[in-house]
Amino acid sequence: MNWEENVRKVTPYIPGEQPADVNVIKLNTNECPYPPAPGVKEKAESFDCSSLRLYPDTEAGKLSDALCGYYNIRPEQLFIGVGSDDVLAMAFLTFFHSEKPVFFPDITYSFYDVWAELYRIPYKRKCLDEKFHIRKEDYKEENGGIIIPNPNAPTGVAEKLGVLEDIIASNPGSVVIIDEAYVDFGGESCLPLIDKYDNLLVVQTFSKSRALAGLRIGFAMGNPRLIRYLKDVKFSFNSYTMNMLSVELGAEAVKDAGYFKDTVNKIIATRERAKEELQELGFTFPDSKANFIFASHKEVAAKTIFQELRKRGIYVRYWEKPRIENFLRITVGTDNQMDALIRSLKEIIKIEREKN
Ligand SMILES: *Cc1c(COP(=O)(O)O)cnc(C)c1O
Repeated sequence: MNWEENVRKVTPYIPGEQPADVNVIKLNTNECPYPPAPGVKEKAESFDCSSLRLYPDTEAGKLSDALCGYYNIRPEQLFIGVGSDDVLAMAFLTFFHSEKPVFFPDITYSFYDVWAELYRIPYKRKCLDEKFHIRKEDYKEENGGIIIPNPNAPTGVAEKLGVLEDIIASNPGSVVIIDEAYVDFGGESCLPLIDKYDNLLVVQTFSKSRALAGLRIGFAMGNPRLIRYLKDVKFSFNSYTMNMLSVELGAEAVKDAGYFKDTVNKIIATRERAKEELQELGFTFPDSKANFIFASHKEVAAKTIFQELRKRGIYVRYWEKPRIENFLRITVGTDNQMDALIRSLKEIIKIEREKN
């Protein structure tokens, strides 16, 4: 008998690369190309490090107050975690606890099946239609829970609130998680529905629209009973997951609503311009409501473009997976970064066309 037979073996999630070279144009992990709100820097500079000898507030009070004020919810409707990955992992463990399969789309955030495998939760992938939209009827079969990102990743496709509400209303026997990592870039949030449906958990993050991926802050909003169960599980791991600096700096980011809106609007404007330019180059893509574009070229293979961009110091995301092996997920950067991308794409496409 070998101890390795009794090890919990898992295949981990593989995040996009974080290159050490700062000259890389990094359009591969959907980070914000702009810095966080100026108040974050001021707070960091005036932070009293002697307070770090104490344990942090288990309720992340300052951050909780800021979020409750911004979203007009009560503290008992809010759960805060170390990035939405932490929030989602806790939610899988807490709510997906039956023998029935959990449902999520076949093309989606590739962490969902990793958590399901880790916790031994049965799951079924539901095929998106040919336009990458969910088919709501698929989510009305018996299930042990549902998770849908809106807008979806890596497609960028947003669903109408009515479609999601129908799914939530049709599943009073299971928890429905809507992962809204990209909702600030043009999607419709399910937040107004949390008072109406006690089985709805809405998850958001500071990593994309709030330019704070490095701080690791995510949160969930829902019925106080859902939140209580989630906290019980979290506090069974570790009661002090939100470190003091993240709580302080995260609160500053939320307080500056004007900066937040300006940043998001800049990214949306750049995205819409990039859509036109990509189309002119012969790319097709589903209409994105996120801070990335999921694009496919009519003549040149995605894998070739991915490799050629990389050689030119531009990183985008590529997956060699069924149905999406000819797509690139391109994060919307600054206008200058997108100009550099378009220039390189023009060059690559020209070279590849001449080969044929
Ligand atoms: C980025 C992302 C997350 C996780 O973000 P955190 O940095 O852990 O907050 C969750 N869901 C989707 C769909 C994402 O793209």
